[in-house]
Amino acid sequence: MQRRISRAVRAGSLVIGGGARISVQSMLNCRVDDIPANVAQANALAAAGCDIVRIAVPDKQAAHTIAALKEQCTIPVVADIHFDHRLALESLAAGADKIRLNPGNIGGQAHVREVAAACAQRGVPIRIGVNGGSLEKELLEKHGTATAQAMAESALNHARLLEQCDFHDIVISVKSSHVQRTVQAYQLLAEQCDYPLHIGLTEAGTVKMGLVKSNIAIGALLLQGIGDTIRVSLTADPVEEIAAARDILHALGQGSGRPNIVSCPTCGRCKIDLISLANQAEERLAGCTKDITVAIMGCVVNGPGEAREADVGLAGGDGCYALFARGEVLRRVDECDALNALMEEIERL
Ligand code: SF4
Repeated sequence: MQRRISRAVRAGSLVIGGGARISVQSMLNCRVDDIPANVAQANALAAAGCDIVRIAVPDKQAAHTIAALKEQCTIPVVADIHFDHRLALESLAAGADKIRLNPGNIGGQAHVREVAAACAQRGVPIRIGVNGGSLEKELLEKHGTATAQAMAESALNHARLLEQCDFHDIVISVKSSHVQRTVQAYQLLAEQCDYPLHIGLTEAGTVKMGLVKSNIAIGALLLQGIGDTIRVSLTADPVEEIAAARDILHALGQGSGRPNIVSCPTCGRCKIDLISLANQAEERLAGCTKDITVAIMGCVVNGPGEAREADVGLAGGDGCYALFARGEVLRRVDECDALNALMEEIERL
């Protein structure tokens, strides 16, 4: 996968863009004034593989929560600001590693200069986050609706305000809940600037359809080499967003240190409970950090051959399994020992 060349920015210990590993992020959804809950959620996200976490900053109280997150969590913290530049300054003073705000709506260029100077002094980047649902009136009038062109134009207008302050540590997102429009907006941005891009949809929905839409949009962009950091936005526990984001990266060969499990859909040739076995194998391999392919196939006639690229695998027989590696059958194992035999073989790899 050839990645778009983007400028690198640094948020705390995390590099975004410039060819750095694609990072995964999420947003806290506890009450902002509940410090223990926010700390616990940030730590749960970090444990799940989240690289950077965002918190809404609706008032000054949020700055205390940011300070607590900085003391008690290891991942960088992004302060999400709407309209009030003073909250950005308070968040920076509390230790925020990145600020999300749109310079065009914080009350004029003097405020933009103040925030840009404070960010520059601390080496903190700013993410411009354009959402299709809250585009400027002039752009809606010009483009008729929140088109991809309108979103990209809005983002570049915001960026210009920071560039006028000689501030270039910028990350951009252009999100909507519409898959094609969002993908097109990022394509336009990718052609017109070299800022790192935070990709994802907004208001994607609940887990079922939200995942489908996010997988399509984020997957389509990553396949084109577009995207430096991702957020899967779901109406769900944020920890689920991290699992989903990690799965997208894994499916595109961008994740590492985790087995790739392939399994067949089964058909009339299958004489064993393959669905249960595949699920059990996935559970047993949850903590495995080997970059290997493991196949769970329904029949010995086609399984080893169809999964010949797998490092190791099981293919169902009649009350037994064939343990195979790289398409060659190693030995037969009883149904009750199959999973243990597979795990032992994986240990040896
Ligand atoms: Fe059917 Fe065997 Fe192919 Fe599975 S591996 S789909 S059981 S033919």
